[in-house]
Amino acid sequence: MIENMFLSSDVAEFRQWMSWADRFVILTHINPDGDAAGSSLALCQYLKNKGKDAVVIVPDASPAFLSWLPGFDDIKVYANDPQKAEDLVYKADVLCCLDFNVVGRIGKVAASFLYSNAKKFLLDHHPYPGANFDITLSHPEASSTSEMVFHLICAMGGFNDITLEIATCIYTGIMTDTGGLSYNSNNSTLFLAIAHLLEKGIDKDEIYRKVYYNYSESRLRLQGYVLNEKMKVFPQFSTSLITLSNKELKRFSYRKGDTEGFVNMPLQINGVSMSAFFREDIESGVIKLSFRSVGSVPCNRFATDFFNGGGHQNAAGGEFRGTMDEAVERFMKGLEEWSKSTEDCIRQLFTGK
Ligand code: 5GP
Ligand code: MN
Repeated sequence: MIENMFLSSDVAEFRQWMSWADRFVILTHINPDGDAAGSSLALCQYLKNKGKDAVVIVPDASPAFLSWLPGFDDIKVYANDPQKAEDLVYKADVLCCLDFNVVGRIGKVAASFLYSNAKKFLLDHHPYPGANFDITLSHPEASSTSEMVFHLICAMGGFNDITLEIATCIYTGIMTDTGGLSYNSNNSTLFLAIAHLLEKGIDKDEIYRKVYYNYSESRLRLQGYVLNEKMKVFPQFSTSLITLSNKELKRFSYRKGDTEGFVNMPLQINGVSMSAFFREDIESGVIKLSFRSVGSVPCNRFATDFFNGGGHQNAAGGEFRGTMDEAVERFMKGLEEWSKSTEDCIRQLFTGK
């Protein structure tokens, strides 16, 4: 077996909870992506197979391109029935918090989380975990929370407990959080874990096709429009910005998840080391911000410094309340400010060194 990322003492308390707790609720972040949904469904399936009453609650729906994930239809969406979701949270013995670091990331589910008397377990790979948890397993060096679920199940003594369905959910989370193993994945232990998932019978090529080759025609045309007409490149800042308004999204029959991956595309340009994507969100009325960077350029710092957001060093996000013009103005001011920085990791963006 491969080396486990957790010390056995780290998981001892969770194992002890498993001996008395029956009701487990798994919570994950707003706009659940492949890792949020994959890790949550994998852990939920594992707990159910252990005879537990387990359910996944998400603040809002996952994109349809994940709807084939095993167990997806059983996910409870808070926004669809807040009362039911709150009841489940209040009745839970254990709340498992996956793929987020601070309570603000679960939106309106936060109130019931904070008032709940359940034991609280954090399993996550974002830096700077909050203090609201009884057990905190925080590993920012992990590729994904899904990889951590693999290690958790193994550390509980259960490699044999990983079924094909669980393996499929775990691989989907690893794949989506590493851009198809193209970043944040330079780690032999991760590939050994993937080898074990393949032994369980996953079809990684089919998973890739289901996630990335599953677009509508209008989504692909939106991508063409974005690259041709909306991508602005600022060579002096080694940075790029894409914006999309509600009106533009409607023109291309936008469905949730359609803009997934857009923020990564400008990084294909030689010389672009940070990319930003701003989208008017039809549901919430705010502007959703996504940032990506390469190497030691900390786009999470940019998100935090100028937009009160956060995330990982190379993948971060946030929200902006205001007009798109105001968001762009703040972005440009942020770049100007950063360009005066003397910090090495920030200077790297402007000097390429
Ligand atoms: P994405 O661009 O895929 O929406 O988000 C990339 C990463 O940024 C997420 O994995 C998450 O860590 C972080 N992130 C996204 N949106 C927010 C936000 O509104 N607030 C904070 N603190 N982090 C965010
Ligand atoms: Mn993740």
